[in-house]
Amino acid sequence: MQYRRLVKNGEDLSVLGYGCMRFPTKNGRIHEDKADKQMLYAFKNGVNYYDTAYPYHGGRSEVMLGKFIKKHNIRDQVYIADKLPAFLVNRSEQIKKYFETQLERLDTNYIDYYLMHMLDSMQTWEKLKKLGILEFIEEKKAKGEIRHIGFSFHGRPEEFIKILEDYDWEFCQIQFNYLDEYNQAGLAGLKRASELGIGVVIMEPLRGGNLAAKAPAKVKEKFNEYSEKRSPAFWALRWIWNHPEVGVVLSGMNVDEHIAENIEVARLTEPNSMSKEEIGIVDDVKEIYRELMKVPCTGCNYCMPCPFNVDIPGTFTDYNNKYFFGDRQSQFQYIGKVVGMMGIKKSGADLCTDCGKCEKHCPQEIEIRKELKVAHKELDNWFLRRAMKVIMFFMGGRSRKRQEA
Ligand code: SF4
Ligand code: SF4
Repeated sequence: MQYRRLVKNGEDLSVLGYGCMRFPTKNGRIHEDKADKQMLYAFKNGVNYYDTAYPYHGGRSEVMLGKFIKKHNIRDQVYIADKLPAFLVNRSEQIKKYFETQLERLDTNYIDYYLMHMLDSMQTWEKLKKLGILEFIEEKKAKGEIRHIGFSFHGRPEEFIKILEDYDWEFCQIQFNYLDEYNQAGLAGLKRASELGIGVVIMEPLRGGNLAAKAPAKVKEKFNEYSEKRSPAFWALRWIWNHPEVGVVLSGMNVDEHIAENIEVARLTEPNSMSKEEIGIVDDVKEIYRELMKVPCTGCNYCMPCPFNVDIPGTFTDYNNKYFFGDRQSQFQYIGKVVGMMGIKKSGADLCTDCGKCEKHCPQEIEIRKELKVAHKELDNWFLRRAMKVIMFFMGGRSRKRQEA
């Protein structure tokens, strides 16, 4: 295992972090024996960074992680990353309540790496500041209950830079992989964070597994041209670790072979170690994906902001993903935009008023208005919209009850 330092004066962290969002399950609950064995295998092979969050597995992820650490008596050998559910916080006292619940679930009295979860817009960050988050962080850091502070991000590139530059963050967590070089925080965000001395944790390195087993046949053929036989997941992870700005890469591992493979790539890949030939193969693969694209959007963001808050590049990403991977995930992502998930304003293509402002700025000369209509027609789904609203209602209700208890 290789180790990189994420924050100034911080600890040496394994470049592979354990994502506790996708534990193995049995009858709808975490399969605790299996999860324990898998985490122990990772730990014995050098993984020392474990990432969880308040809503993962309905709160059971934090409990599972706490049990694992206690059972093996390794609190002083691992680093816990956990996240404040920023999207559920509406009153000052909730910040403290969530944090205390998390310590209790984790069965610990400090969190090593604490993040504002899905801090996707300045709006959410300003809300937290008004509710006293800065004073809370200061107090908890002084008491040693929070060791390092950061935020996780899934929003638009310009929002990422604003949040990044607005506070003395120690680290951040972004989605990054060879298909998301220009989406969300992207490569530019990764570089900016590095310039500011802010450590970067990577999530979704395989886009929820899409860049692994679900990769299109043409992509697999291209990878197979290389002299050494490697899986698409191996290539995707190797490409990320080749970037010297990257600190920890999280992987939600729940298959034994995948854990072993991830550990092997983490052992082999040093920054800037990919050969020209290897980089060329990944570039060819990106080109294959570009050919499969429905809309040739590069995610450059020149068309943004839309005065009516349509997330233009985000909508095209969801639309393209539907054709790359043929799964439901992209549709869920898009419906989240239409209904406005997790406290983020609605940003679906149905908000488009046909004003035409965006099209003047698109270097790809995309007929944005026309394509948005097609994308919306293909991705929108009345049933999923209803289902998502119900989920949001119950999440809000459950959170309210916990806070009132
Ligand atoms: S045409 Fe639609 S998407 Fe483009 S700027 Fe106007 S409202 Fe926004
Ligand atoms: S300007 Fe064009 S290519 Fe760039 S993000 Fe907007 S739609 Fe995509």
